[in-house]
Amino acid sequence: MFPDDETAEAWFVSQRWPDGVWCPDCGSANVQARPTRKPQPYRCRDCRNDFSVKTHTLMHASKLGCRVWALAIYLMSTSLKGVSSMKLHRDLGVTQKTAWHLAHRIRESWADDHAERFGGPVEVDETFIGGRESNKHDRKKLNAGRGAVGKEVVAGVKDRASGKVLARHVPATTAPVLTSFVADTAQAGAEVFTDEHAGYRQLHRLGFDHSDRTPFFGPFAMRVFSGCLLPTVLRIRLV
Ligand SMILES: [Zn+2]
Repeated sequence: MFPDDETAEAWFVSQRWPDGVWCPDCGSANVQARPTRKPQPYRCRDCRNDFSVKTHTLMHASKLGCRVWALAIYLMSTSLKGVSSMKLHRDLGVTQKTAWHLAHRIRESWADDHAERFGGPVEVDETFIGGRESNKHDRKKLNAGRGAVGKEVVAGVKDRASGKVLARHVPATTAPVLTSFVADTAQAGAEVFTDEHAGYRQLHRLGFDHSDRTPFFGPFAMRVFSGCLLPTVLRIRLV
């Protein structure tokens, strides 16, 4: 199926970027491929970041080869009874500890996949929890500085039709984090309304019908992040 890492990597690339490689940090398609530069064979000419097909996926920062990942994902998704990490250990020739981590990461990514997603249109926003109220509003005037130190970020999504809201603790307000939050909570192709934060600019690349000039911002943020959502916010988890 995958004789070597190169074959597996090429498969991941074709799955992730069917229309050409784009930068997972800023969304730019102005990307230089440097096949000999492992483990990060792409460079974004706009934000100057190096990346690979693993960047900001469940394989992020993993030293394991693409072949092992591809086979592990295949084994786990095709087995009806589930696959033990012992089987991964034996079949893939990795240590038991590595096999456990593989299985854990793959299951973790499925937990999000199998959750109910909103069909849209949805409204998405994020805010800082903690710190002074004045600080929370400052970031709307600034282009930089959303990642204030010492404060937790919570992203929220609201389904306009049902009024249901889902909020989740996220590690940052960067494009990879906010994009994957939307991809985890809204169905592919959904209409998504946000403010103009750069973190949402690559949503259209994932097929979302994205509008970033939404005048709902204030009232929505107030509703989503006021006390009514505290029970959700308290069940925080990292994406
Ligand atoms: Zn970039």
